[in-house]
Amino acid sequence: MPELPEVETTLRGIHPHLLQQKITAVRVYQPKLRWAVPDELQTIIGQRVLSVKRRAKYLLIETKLGSVIIHLGMSGSLRLCDKGTTRQKHDHVEFEINQQQVLRLHDPRRFGCVLFSQDPLQHKLLINLGPEPLLDAFTAKHLYQRAGQRKVSIKSFIMDAKNVVGVGNIYANEALFMAGISPKIAVGCITLKRYQLLVDAIKQVLADAIKQGGTTLNDFVNADGDTGYFQLKLNVYGQNDKPCSQCETMIIKLVQNQRASFYCPQCQS
Ligand SMILES: [Zn+2]
Repeated sequence: MPELPEVETTLRGIHPHLLQQKITAVRVYQPKLRWAVPDELQTIIGQRVLSVKRRAKYLLIETKLGSVIIHLGMSGSLRLCDKGTTRQKHDHVEFEINQQQVLRLHDPRRFGCVLFSQDPLQHKLLINLGPEPLLDAFTAKHLYQRAGQRKVSIKSFIMDAKNVVGVGNIYANEALFMAGISPKIAVGCITLKRYQLLVDAIKQVLADAIKQGGTTLNDFVNADGDTGYFQLKLNVYGQNDKPCSQCETMIIKLVQNQRASFYCPQCQS
């Protein structure tokens, strides 16, 4: 599934090709994505792209008349190619740029979406999202205050987009290891000082993944969407029954909230 670093990498890849360029056509080959692609998407034809941004895992392509909201779902990717390039199976929506290039959404499982909004940050999908993990608004104090006396596990808590966006399963596991915090511990039992370690770890894990993703940017035009975390060094994720890289204790796997957690019982408490 494309995670925040992949979406950020995609953003950096398409941004220079879209900014200030004119959208000369919008073609919808398959409107049945996670939600139906709305007819009002055609509003942007003839408009220039004023900005291309990311909010959580949503990409926002802004024009004067409104913004396109794109989510890559489980299997989506965006590709920029010359207009004449043969369309592939599962290329569902395309935006033509300056009558020369096309930005295509490829999504075999169709859990992604392409929506339109005049005020995307107020859209129901985006309005309740927590802070961006890489921005200064994401602090230890923010997590500590939201945690209060709650008993929910820290792993579930940091994967909840209302608390912070973009911390997928791999990143949650790796950040908790880096911070020395057990995925099972209740959020109300964690001190502000430990939240600081966790916030630093989340920022570092995501920044590292984006950096790795960035190394594939040169291939972006022909990319098949496979970027990012596979190149990350994983300390705990998928490492069950292998020795911890720090202390050689066996890494344990458990299931929390239907997601696999991996941790070192010695290093994390
Ligand atoms: Zn260990």
